[in-house]
Amino acid sequence: MHGRKNVSAIHVNKHVYNIIEYTFIIFVENLKKNISMKLPFAETFRIKTVEQIYQSTREERERWIEQADYNLFNLKSSQVFIDLLTDSGTGSMSDKQWGEMMLGDESYAGSSSFEKLKETVQSITGYEHFLPTHQGRAAENVLFSALIKKGDIIPGNSHFDTTKGHIEFRDAKAIDCTIDEAFDIDNLHPFKGNIDLEKLEEVYKTYPKEKIPFCLITITCNSSGGQPVSMENIKAVRELSNKYGIRVLFDAARFAENAYFVKIREEGFADQSIKEIAKEAFSYGDGMTISAKKDGLVNMGGFIALREEELWRKAMSFCIMYEGYVTYGGMSGRDMGALAQGLKESTEFDYLKTRIGQVEYLGEKLKEYGIPIQKPVGGHAIFVDALAVLPNVPREHYVAQTLAIELYKEAGIRGVEIGTLLADRDPETRKDRFPKLELLRLAMPRRTYTQNHMDYIAVGLKNLYDRREEITTGYEISWEADILRHFTVKLKPVE
Ligand SMILES: *Cc1c(COP(=O)(O)O)cnc(C)c1O
Repeated sequence: MHGRKNVSAIHVNKHVYNIIEYTFIIFVENLKKNISMKLPFAETFRIKTVEQIYQSTREERERWIEQADYNLFNLKSSQVFIDLLTDSGTGSMSDKQWGEMMLGDESYAGSSSFEKLKETVQSITGYEHFLPTHQGRAAENVLFSALIKKGDIIPGNSHFDTTKGHIEFRDAKAIDCTIDEAFDIDNLHPFKGNIDLEKLEEVYKTYPKEKIPFCLITITCNSSGGQPVSMENIKAVRELSNKYGIRVLFDAARFAENAYFVKIREEGFADQSIKEIAKEAFSYGDGMTISAKKDGLVNMGGFIALREEELWRKAMSFCIMYEGYVTYGGMSGRDMGALAQGLKESTEFDYLKTRIGQVEYLGEKLKEYGIPIQKPVGGHAIFVDALAVLPNVPREHYVAQTLAIELYKEAGIRGVEIGTLLADRDPETRKDRFPKLELLRLAMPRRTYTQNHMDYIAVGLKNLYDRREEITTGYEISWEADILRHFTVKLKPVE
């Protein structure tokens, strides 16, 4: 009896000792973890209202995309699980913005909502004069009507489509002076939106200053993928333009995202606030147009802000003709209130850290999976190199469009083709123009999707990438419009 008791006592002691040892190891491990583990990325908002989205089956999606003539613009939003078609007007408003919607003053003239927006714009931009418009292209239409004549030249960094449209519509010409590094997707230049000062000076030397009403700096540069422009470059453009007596304007749709990149990447700005950086950038210009559907954090809106009173007076008449009276210009009072609040929020560091952090998080995941994308990733979108993801699909089969369709069928994600369909036909030969790159753009709506959605997108693309050898055919056109064909084109699979 005694002997047995002793044995079990020893056994118990050993057992207890093991537990103590084990607990100690766990304790040390945790201690190590506590010291070395960096807190992961997390959104700096929590969710107050939700919108249900339908997760369809592959079978349903194959049927829907066929019914849509293999054009993703023809899909109903209810047929899309994650919609990355654009970041324009697709974001979520905050509780404070919705509060402003109730405070909207709908008086025809001199509403308090107008005053609120004007004061916010003045404090963020430093420009005294202000005109609201219903969106970005409307601001372009109003201001360019006052500024651009036939035969004029407008240099800048890759002008946005509507901007170029409004320039060319007036029989003027946009000249792209972006640095060459912007067009190499593997070049890690931190400011791929920069203007090449030599190219710009060449324009200034070639044309008389009367023919150049302004130089346009787009921040961030949308056409090159949300790539930022450095403060140093903005300042240098100002100095060069001063030398030739030329005005500098901003197309400022993503000015806050640009300021974030300056803070993070450019020497000397780490300790400045986003509002200080944005204001310094605007101080080197004479005015701006903006689509508030981006960094204004609203679903619809835009405005013009100017330093020169005379130009503002000239633009006023066009605002009244095209948009509405000068104290609402195409926006209701509640929309102006929500925009004023949105501008305050989008120029907060924490908001931008979440916003751009999310795009970077997706970029890192894709790189981890070996999927070729434009580097460094821009502020609002990821560009996937479709020629590398689908190496066996011939160029004539619209490779980026094929990738967009495959990704939709695979995961219900809607991106947009930036490739041969968009590049359209040569006006003379009527043959397809093949651009240097075939890209699939995945644009991220603001404050709309979560990190789980990012993981889902990355896996959707990875699955396609893993099957890349098997995908060997694409699509052919069955009908197309004479201009801007990509919006309405009808396609069918190549047999
Ligand atoms: C979106 C955008 C525009 C046009 O604005 P809309 O609100 O869509 O009319 C102009 N310039 C840039 C850089 C843009 O991103």
